[in-house]
Amino acid sequence: MTTEHEKQKTSIAISVGRALRLRCPACGVGKLFRNRLQMQDPCQQCGRKFDRAPGYLLGSIYFNYGVTTLLVVVLYFSLFFSNTLSSRQLLWTLGAFSLLFPLWFFRYARALWIAFDERWDPWPNEEERRTFDR
Ligand SMILES: [Zn+2]
Repeated sequence: MTTEHEKQKTSIAISVGRALRLRCPACGVGKLFRNRLQMQDPCQQCGRKFDRAPGYLLGSIYFNYGVTTLLVVVLYFSLFFSNTLSSRQLLWTLGAFSLLFPLWFFRYARALWIAFDERWDPWPNEEERRTFDR
């Protein structure tokens, strides 16, 4: 038996686009966040549950850490070889960046995590379907 989600598999570009617009990965219309910090769960449009299980959203830390690290490495080498900043200025600039960027990026990291999960394990999976049918 197939569900609506399995029938309409979205492309990676669409999934990433929805995540970067902070929209539901399943329908692309519902907003993921009510405000800067609070999630809108479940989706107001299609009912997709965003926080699927306890600790589920911790996976977004991998996206936040990965993107932050990648940017710090690229910025470090770019600034180091351009000789625009002294070593001390470079340290403080990238130190501040690596503290502030993840705070700003956390909603996008969460959206990317949920979109990534939706691609590999669309909601509701077999176990979630059994739980809701009871
Ligand atoms: Zn939705």
